[in-house]
Amino acid sequence: MKRRTFIKKASITSLACALPPMVPVYSDPDYSLDELIGKADIDLYGEGINLREEAYHAFVAMKKAALKAGFDIQMVSSYRDYFRQESIWERKFLRYTEDDGMQPMDAIEKIIEYSTIPGTSRHHWGTDIDIIDGSVKSSGDVLVPQKFEAGGPFEGLKHWLDENSEEFGFYLVYTDEPKRPGFKYEPWHYSYAPISIPMLEAYRRINIVKMLLSQDFLGCDYFTTGFLRSYIQDNILGINPELL
Ligand SMILES: [Zn+2]
Repeated sequence: MKRRTFIKKASITSLACALPPMVPVYSDPDYSLDELIGKADIDLYGEGINLREEAYHAFVAMKKAALKAGFDIQMVSSYRDYFRQESIWERKFLRYTEDDGMQPMDAIEKIIEYSTIPGTSRHHWGTDIDIIDGSVKSSGDVLVPQKFEAGGPFEGLKHWLDENSEEFGFYLVYTDEPKRPGFKYEPWHYSYAPISIPMLEAYRRINIVKMLLSQDFLGCDYFTTGFLRSYIQDNILGINPELL
């Protein structure tokens, strides 16, 4: 806790200067700001599934079809609220800065290879899923790209998803496209496009820089406007173009 106080005090001046005054953060009739940043109490469907209603039905249909082909789609992660993302973020920030002695900005750059800044995760929307094949044995971390590649335990499911997921509305988000900026290739992360496309449109109407500068989690005081602008461009918008 002491360190947190120190971090906050150390950069309070730059934070105050970076905040543009009198600019509204967001106003949109379809999705509330809290809903878009994972702070709203939304209705989620399916035990162990936890998606918006339409995405839930699509997921169940896809799971049934995959079962017929011999794959047992298991949900590793679906809806995740702001505060869960905040605890993931802070755990990593402390590990990299305190245990590994990294400089705060280096730690932040490392976190955002795979993890989002709280308030910017697509998992906040109840439309995005991380999935594996539960019908095969695997050990250790399951969400590693090699496990979905040739010879890996989830190779078969990955081929099936490549052929079939879009028919159910699910699109790969962080594709294996060398020129794509932002998050690394995530062969396990799919998004239910009929809802996530309009939600991303609404999200882009948020003043994301201002929203993030007004949050309060470990490390956020190191964010500069320039860093956040490139994070938005690369990490939020650096996705499969079919989801834009
Ligand atoms: Zn994910």
